[in-house]
Amino acid sequence: MAKKEAIDDPRYVKGVGPVKAKALLSEGIATLEDLALYFPRDYIDRKALLPIRSLALSLFEYSREREATIYGEISDTRLFEYGRFRKRKAFELSITDGSGTAKALFWTYADYYSRTYKKGDLIVLFGRPEFDRYNRLTFTHPEIEKIEAEDLEVYKSGGILPVYRLSSAMRKAKITNRVMRAILSAALEAYLPRVEETLPDYLIAKRGLARRREAIRNLHFPTSQKDLAKARERMKYEESFYFQLRLGLKRAGAKKAKGIKIAEKSALARKLYEKLPFELTGDQKKALKEIANDLRSGFPMNRLLQGDVGSGKTITALLAALAVIDSGYQAAFMAPTEILSEQHYRTAVSFLEDLGVKVAFLRGGQRKKEREKTLELIESGEARLIIGTHALFASGARIPKLALAIIDEQHRFGVAQRAKLTKASGLKGVRPHVLVMTATPIPRTLSMTLYGDLDVSVIREKPKNRKPIRSKAFYESQAEEAFEFARKKIKEGRQVYIVYPLVEKSEKLELKAATEQFEIISKKIFPEFRSALLHGQMKWEEKEEIARKFAAGEIDVLAATTVVEVGIDVPNATVMIIENAERFGLSQLHQLRGRVGRGEEESYCFLIVKDSARFAARATKDGENAAMARIKIMEKTDDGFEIAETDLRLRGPGELFGLKQSGLPNFKFLNLASDGETISASKRDAAEILAQDPRLEKPENEIVRKNLAKMEKSGSDFYG
Ligand code: ADP
Ligand code: MG
Repeated sequence: MAKKEAIDDPRYVKGVGPVKAKALLSEGIATLEDLALYFPRDYIDRKALLPIRSLALSLFEYSREREATIYGEISDTRLFEYGRFRKRKAFELSITDGSGTAKALFWTYADYYSRTYKKGDLIVLFGRPEFDRYNRLTFTHPEIEKIEAEDLEVYKSGGILPVYRLSSAMRKAKITNRVMRAILSAALEAYLPRVEETLPDYLIAKRGLARRREAIRNLHFPTSQKDLAKARERMKYEESFYFQLRLGLKRAGAKKAKGIKIAEKSALARKLYEKLPFELTGDQKKALKEIANDLRSGFPMNRLLQGDVGSGKTITALLAALAVIDSGYQAAFMAPTEILSEQHYRTAVSFLEDLGVKVAFLRGGQRKKEREKTLELIESGEARLIIGTHALFASGARIPKLALAIIDEQHRFGVAQRAKLTKASGLKGVRPHVLVMTATPIPRTLSMTLYGDLDVSVIREKPKNRKPIRSKAFYESQAEEAFEFARKKIKEGRQVYIVYPLVEKSEKLELKAATEQFEIISKKIFPEFRSALLHGQMKWEEKEEIARKFAAGEIDVLAATTVVEVGIDVPNATVMIIENAERFGLSQLHQLRGRVGRGEEESYCFLIVKDSARFAARATKDGENAAMARIKIMEKTDDGFEIAETDLRLRGPGELFGLKQSGLPNFKFLNLASDGETISASKRDAAEILAQDPRLEKPENEIVRKNLAKMEKSGSDFYG
């Protein structure tokens, strides 16, 4: 035991010792394996080292997308203030290599950079260079590393050098990148022979992957870009494969539960279908067919229905509910807010009541007597469709013959919630069918990962009568045009939304900001019109009252915080002005803008970008402001999926609307925005393996079973 520990302790690696070992430990590096898996955050390829002058020339002539590495001496530094009230600090340095001069700009952590990088230091810069408006070669937030004069020879002479993330504790213990390279080189010598393969041979062969041992070595000390790419690909595949395998196992587990068999043909559903004033789109029909197949399979349905706002999910869900009701069961329809559930209630009544289907509405704040009456209707089984908010259902209503739960606008419907549903249903020994709907389009790569345990139907095709919403972005200082336009439309009889998508954590702040802005709107901008403010902290009766008045045309301008996002449906409201648009994800903006464009009239969305965003964000390669460039994407497309994909690319999965608490693992290598092919390949492989060997008993899959067990024991992220 003692011997094993000694072998495994980084302290005994050549060049480490107790002080450095302690610093490593503070980064969670406790074993040789931890050390070997502490991968570089970047690489410097000496072949890409360019004299500044030739880089500047080539940048004029060729692609501006390229990243480049330069090295030289810091010839000047400057710490300066910027932003509103000059509250923020930035750091700029000039670097000279004899052939020319470039500069680097750091808009954040300026103090740190100015403390660390001094005139006369030798540095390496890596990043995407661009020209500033004086045609000076500029790197914004490049990777930067101080080097020693003797290092320069290494840089000039050979190979690809790893660059490690060094914490301040590590730096204090004198672990520089050069030291780290030496430590890793010694550690790998001891560790590599012990590396065990984690993927079966046949998969390695099938996908042409690098072996794990080779991949780990090449991630630290790649001999070529090609080897490095191969090593990365191997790790991505491994991460994705085990994640998909786990999801597959979960899904297989769910499929084993018993479901409620619903008859294939439903006269009720047919009746509604024939009565509809429109033809269903191809995607709606396809989704319905997929749902119908689930409902009659004898297994509980677990399906996500995705489609843009207005793509017709509700009617699709109601048709499914009718089939269930026709088989003698009850269905529930849950929405996140009162306003939205009320709307669903009205829709459902208008479609279903003259088919003789009783709809009950579990309204919040119902009087006791009224509530008892509603519950009585539900418990006697007379009410066949029950509508309410998620919260109301969670509060424990009993639905004796609940066979289908439709859950609107909730991407994640967790295991705990499913269990609650099963409890709410009076049907014993079976699990109700679940249909989750979301208007947040999830890019395919993400949905494969996020919803691997769900089946997914997508409605991408919009109903034919839809007109695209015309969108235009403005800087705040130039937004008069937008308000003028809105004024003209109100005079023509239309109504207008003004949205403050405020994100302050504090509700108080949010309210204050919205109230202040509303004062300006109602007193200064639109004094001649009837306006009202709607925000999240109002009592629901107040909200209802305002929503009702707006719907009745008694309010011209509705100023609102993001509460309008889900809920209000007023076809006469054709203009939306979104303030502070730069603070939000494109998907969320798209979602918001879906509130207009619900009627026959042409609709408009104006996105107002704060002028200060101009200075905070860096310029794009075309010299346009990045904040504005992002918002302008909204002008170009009306396709929620395309927007979500762009959002994912620009802001990463964590920032995508609503995905923060998604429970997605923290992949070290896999990039959900760009690794679609790896994800689909690994998903297919995992599915194939589970189909042929559901319990992973075949000898060739032993490695998989062992590795799964090991991950489970270590509580690895893959088991989130
Ligand atoms: P979602 O729930 O996806 O946001 P809804 O189901 O509320 O969309 O549909 C928006 C509007 O479009 C509703 O008034 C609905 O009746 C109508 N609608 C639904 N499907 C179609 C269709 N295929 N053709 C025309 N209109 C449709
Ligand atoms: Mg809807």
